[in-house]
Amino acid sequence: MINGRFGAVEQAFQREPVKAVPPARETSSYYGCNVFNRDTMRRYLSSETRRVVYESIEKGATLDKSVAEHVASGMKRWAMDMGATHYTHWFQPLTGGTAEKHDSFAEPHSYGTTLEQFSGSKLCQQEPDASSFPNGGLRNTFEARGYTAWDPSSPAFILGDCLCVPTVFISYNGEALDYKTPLIRSVSAVKRAAADVLKCLGTENAEVSAYLGWEQEFFLVDSALYAQRPDLMLSDRTLLGHDSARNQQLDDHYFGSIPPRVMEFMKDLEFEGYKLGIPLKTRHNEVAPNQFEIAPVFEEMNLAVDHNLLLMSLMRSVADRHKFKVLFHEKPFNGINGSGKHCNWSLGLTDGTGLLSPGKTDEENLRFLAFMANVLKAVYDNNGLLKASIVSPSNAHRLGATEAPPAIVSVFLGMQVTSLFEELMDTEDMVKIKDKKGYSIGIHQIPELLIDNTDRNRTSPFAFTGNRFEFRAVGSSANCALPMAVLNTAVAYQLKQFKKAVDKRIASGEDAVKAVLNETRETYRACRDICFDGNGYSDEWKEEAARRGLDTETSVPVIYDQFTTEKTINAYKETGVLSEVELRARNEVAWNHYSMKIDIESRVLSDMAYNHIIPVAIRFQNVLLENVLKSRELFTREEFEKYSPQELRQIKEIADYINIARTMADDMDSMCDEFSKLEGREMAVAYHDKLAPCIEEIRKCMDMLEMIVDDQMWPLPKYRELLFIR
Ligand code: ADP
Ligand code: MG
Repeated sequence: MINGRFGAVEQAFQREPVKAVPPARETSSYYGCNVFNRDTMRRYLSSETRRVVYESIEKGATLDKSVAEHVASGMKRWAMDMGATHYTHWFQPLTGGTAEKHDSFAEPHSYGTTLEQFSGSKLCQQEPDASSFPNGGLRNTFEARGYTAWDPSSPAFILGDCLCVPTVFISYNGEALDYKTPLIRSVSAVKRAAADVLKCLGTENAEVSAYLGWEQEFFLVDSALYAQRPDLMLSDRTLLGHDSARNQQLDDHYFGSIPPRVMEFMKDLEFEGYKLGIPLKTRHNEVAPNQFEIAPVFEEMNLAVDHNLLLMSLMRSVADRHKFKVLFHEKPFNGINGSGKHCNWSLGLTDGTGLLSPGKTDEENLRFLAFMANVLKAVYDNNGLLKASIVSPSNAHRLGATEAPPAIVSVFLGMQVTSLFEELMDTEDMVKIKDKKGYSIGIHQIPELLIDNTDRNRTSPFAFTGNRFEFRAVGSSANCALPMAVLNTAVAYQLKQFKKAVDKRIASGEDAVKAVLNETRETYRACRDICFDGNGYSDEWKEEAARRGLDTETSVPVIYDQFTTEKTINAYKETGVLSEVELRARNEVAWNHYSMKIDIESRVLSDMAYNHIIPVAIRFQNVLLENVLKSRELFTREEFEKYSPQELRQIKEIADYINIARTMADDMDSMCDEFSKLEGREMAVAYHDKLAPCIEEIRKCMDMLEMIVDDQMWPLPKYRELLFIR
């Protein structure tokens, strides 16, 4: 049993690193051993079954019943050989995490015996019911069932004793109740649209893929200290806590050597991750004390998202073993860097050619410029929507604060690409067609060194980094399926418009190449206002962005309106990603989630003020009062007037902070009651406008008290302890 703050500090200080389980052999010998991948399939499925499964993975075709039976039986045999006793459909409800409900393979049989069973229908579809997941009104109680259906493009895997089958989660009427469904739909939309544009450039039947490489940032806090902080436990961030005198000013944590206890954690995490086929590549210290990052090599998008979610749950369990708690919140500590999940996004041909990579030939460079212009236009037209895809009650604290990108979406292109586009704008007739094949776009060779683009701008929310865009505004706790689906949808829609415009030009007699080039020029001309390479933190940028017509809204519930504008509904409809009903339902979920998060924070803070801080502040105030009283007895009048004013002032200060905090906490309580009568958007706006500011005000009082009250009396681990003990 830990005895309060000092007991926890002592325990944390005395911890030895928990030795990581050393993998017996080299990584390649166990990599992916817990995954039903092609290697495993070769051992458990017939060649004919494998052929159909591969086709379904590559083309997204549905498996027919008899094939599903074969797959299920092979999968079951493999899982049981691996020691699994249960199976689950693993899905991504709108709560943000992942969900699973384990079923045993064992089925009761006659005469009191059991038999292990797992049929094709159980592999392909289930009804977990799961009626308590948020659905925004898509499921009335009479049709409350939700269905999960296997997504063969992400392989099954084993966690502990359970075979996990990645699935989509949909309602009785086929509406998406999860993050995976729209992601998969958006990936196919962008693939199709890109392949169509490539046709104009002379490539028939192009196989395009969407790729994602995420970088997961997080904090680690010793579990004993964590257990002494109700705010971290219940609301994932510190709701009070004065700055530590030293935090990240010295920049000495960034890329420093990873502390031994953390290193053992990382090794275990990598071991577990490799077994599940997560291609982890880099690990390092981040800027803030106790902040770290881990990133894999990029993968096909749907798989990359699954791997991120899987890794996040591995991180939680591995951290427990090492007596750490992982904080995924975007801003767990005030005043120092928050955590993001940079999403490196690109489109490429399945042969490895990047559509956002400059090439060597004119054809390749035209393709590069065309795709770049389309991405820019998509981001320009949907800058508000893209912001809506990354804001959340937690990420709102990070955007625009220390180091993080501001709450305005713009694109950093870098000098080289910008000047290329500007050059294109100035020249009317760049295409000199020599013969059918050989032509020159007349732009000087694009320097190949773009990939190691050094003029990196950390303040940009969306930056071109040589062969991909890095969406930096995404938060560390997010399911990146949401921002990725929005980006894919926006780009798919734009590519479709581009294709239509090019076709029109061709119909009116323009040569195909020239039509693409001219349309690329016009596309860029229409959206160059999205490009901004300057300092995104400055106030001038906020004003300039507003002048350019970019979305500068900062209220999270209002930003969510972007999901249901006519423009968004139209783009989602044309690309087939989500219907208007689905979009509206999602917003209901988002607003409700926002309100509940703020509601929880306010209740936790109110409790902490009343039960933890104010009693201690009063005790300390009494010590001061006692001292003043005794001084008055012992000192002469002159001495008293000389020595006691400071103390008297402090007594009054304490009284003031306590009064303000109490009044505010009471106000918050009555607001919570009042707002509980509201619904949806109205409720979220009330929480944002009226209640959230009180949380910050109370915090200020608590943090001032922390500065005044005797350190020996202070009940909660302080920032310097949470951040520097490891
Ligand atoms: P940095 O921190 O410098 O941005 P990292 O190495 O931490 O770089 O992460 C870069 C991420 O971008 C990795 O996941 C990497 O695999 C990914 N990436 C590299 N090339 C591409 C690409 N063409 N498309 C998508 N992601 C990519
Ligand atoms: Mg990065």
